[in-house]
Amino acid sequence: MDQHLINTVNRLQDALATLGPNANPIDLPQITVVGSQSSGKSSVLENIVGRDFLPRGTGIVTRRPLVLQLINRRPTTTITAAKPNGTSNSSSNGSLIDTDDAKPKEILAPVGEQVNETNPDEWGEFLHKPGQKFFDFNEIRKEIVRETDLKTGKNAGISSVPINLRIYSPHVLTLTLVDLPGLTKVPVGDQPKDIEIQIKEMILKFITKPNAIILSVTAANTDLANSDGLKLAREVDPEGSRTIGVLTKIDLMDQGTDVIDILAGRVIPLRYGYVPVINRSQKDITSHKSIRSALQFEKEFFENHPAYRAKAQYCGTPYLSMRLNSILLNHIRTTLPDIKSRIDNTLKKYEAELATLGPPELGSPSNIVLSTITEFCNEYRSILDGQGNDVSSLELSGGARISFVFHEIFSNGIKALDPFDQIKDVDIRTILYNSAGSSPNLFVGTAAFEVLVKKQIKRFEEPALKCVTLVYDELVRILSQILAKQQFNRYPTLRENINNVFIGFLRKSLIPTNKLVTDLVSMEEAYINTAHPDLIKGSSAMAIVTEKMQLSKPVQLDPKTGKPLPHQHVSVPSTNNDDEGGFFSNFFASKNKKRLAAMEPPPTTLRASGQMTERETMETEVIKMLIHSYFAIVQRTITDMVPKSIMLKLIIYSKQEMQRELLENLYRTDSLADLVKENENTVQRRKEVKKMVDALRHAAEIVSSV
Ligand code: GDP
Ligand code: MG
Repeated sequence: MDQHLINTVNRLQDALATLGPNANPIDLPQITVVGSQSSGKSSVLENIVGRDFLPRGTGIVTRRPLVLQLINRRPTTTITAAKPNGTSNSSSNGSLIDTDDAKPKEILAPVGEQVNETNPDEWGEFLHKPGQKFFDFNEIRKEIVRETDLKTGKNAGISSVPINLRIYSPHVLTLTLVDLPGLTKVPVGDQPKDIEIQIKEMILKFITKPNAIILSVTAANTDLANSDGLKLAREVDPEGSRTIGVLTKIDLMDQGTDVIDILAGRVIPLRYGYVPVINRSQKDITSHKSIRSALQFEKEFFENHPAYRAKAQYCGTPYLSMRLNSILLNHIRTTLPDIKSRIDNTLKKYEAELATLGPPELGSPSNIVLSTITEFCNEYRSILDGQGNDVSSLELSGGARISFVFHEIFSNGIKALDPFDQIKDVDIRTILYNSAGSSPNLFVGTAAFEVLVKKQIKRFEEPALKCVTLVYDELVRILSQILAKQQFNRYPTLRENINNVFIGFLRKSLIPTNKLVTDLVSMEEAYINTAHPDLIKGSSAMAIVTEKMQLSKPVQLDPKTGKPLPHQHVSVPSTNNDDEGGFFSNFFASKNKKRLAAMEPPPTTLRASGQMTERETMETEVIKMLIHSYFAIVQRTITDMVPKSIMLKLIIYSKQEMQRELLENLYRTDSLADLVKENENTVQRRKEVKKMVDALRHAAEIVSSV
């Protein structure tokens, strides 16, 4: 049953391989071979497979990752069942797998003496050539070379796009291995200067995944401490917990030296330990020595060597295959639950995305336009009412932001208006004189007060119009917030049109809104309601001012008792104050006799100046109080009425009329089809996500069958 697990992973690998190397979201357990160039990586793999099929030669031969799935398969009894060189479709993989009784002995069994003779029970299949069985292993090698050149060009460049090859054989244990380019130091030929870094990065990409088992190959006739393969393995697996060491070229070691110390874990310990092997030498290859006799040589070497004799069953290629098989199994067993949940989670994520991309066909163009507009308007209304689906706790949105504009920004802007940063005492005095001049006995000129207040009321217009603009900006913000949603992304033309109609509509609505708001201010300006119940009464203003002026006078002491005299009412000062320095005292204060004699006309601007009389001071103060009181009334009214106007003319109006406006502009039979042309990206993305979902669903099925 155990082999079934590896088979499961192989099927998963295929199910997910359709996604391409970079899109694949799930890392599956596999054994990755690393080591320096010519350390014997490809030789080890060939020995494990028991066939010659890997491109070889000097220099960098392996230039793309080769994902090699070995599938143990019970030999067919009738040779006619398989068609050598045929392209018949392979039957379902699962049914062909020998699940239980593969033993290392069988691996060594019937490999022909002649190199690469064909055998109907053994064939290879490439993922990029589905259904085509390669019975001739020389053809497999050629195909690997062809495929490598296809992606990397003829020069010695590399590519990280893997070639997927599956080998069915009764002589292999079910295993997944990845052959990678060896680590080189010096670029050769027209290899890029950074070839070393490129290769290193590619290897790291494979072995960094926590699910990778690292098969680190080192030639025994080199120093283990300098092994590139081990160094790289340690970078990603410092504990050595998923690294297995292979020592090649044991036969090339100097007489009297051996690797016993390494095997015993006394040099660089690894959890899975080391396996010593002997591959064919270059001479063996050139002389077409068969793998079978090579394996025989290996067996005899270890059994007869004084250092290894006692532990010969733990040496050599067959033991390595078995070890790898059981490591991979263990690994799969422990990681499968995790893989399962990762597949489920990833599947959920992509299913959700697919749902937002929508089905390829939503219906007729008119239905799409209709439902999109309806959806948009519902969304718009609910955001304004604070019922949007994404009411956020982190950020004010929609209606809440508009509230903020009204109650914070606008209200504070109005509060900040101070009439007295523009009205100066001297102005009041001048106007007082101008308006009351003809009837000097009249108490506090109403006319003066009105003139001054009107001028100040005009100032409300600017913040009121500003408030309209701020709300308009918020509505546009809501618009883009809605249109940014995935479902509106789908039909870019329709979205663009909704956007334009919406903005055009708001702009149109700005005109009556601004009009109403300016009218509000104009109304205040048009009539100063001196009878307003909240306006301070002239008489009480007067009383307050009189009181204040009394208090600010130096306290008079009773000459007899020495105690402060009680306050007395101010007598209304005489208006005849010519000799005390009146309105024009400064002007006439000039003692320039010549000028006085010349009786020059008054200057173009004539302002009241000079020391104010007590009465002037009082009148000025009273007027100021009245202005203050009235201004506060207008402030309150404007703060209250402007938001109401904007609400009526812009917000409620757009809520009610937007749908009609959009339909009127967009729901026209002649242009409907153009509106609902789908976004190219959406179409593309849907295809990708669909593929992802299909592959993952398939993968989930495979895993749940375990
Ligand atoms: P790779 O670059 O790591 O894939 O190394 P190869 O498998 O292509 O081997 C490089 C060279 O070393 C070839 O000429 C092999 O014949 C030779 N070689 C590999 N392993 C052994 C071994 O165990 N003993 C001997 N004598 N030669 C070996
Ligand atoms: Mg190689």
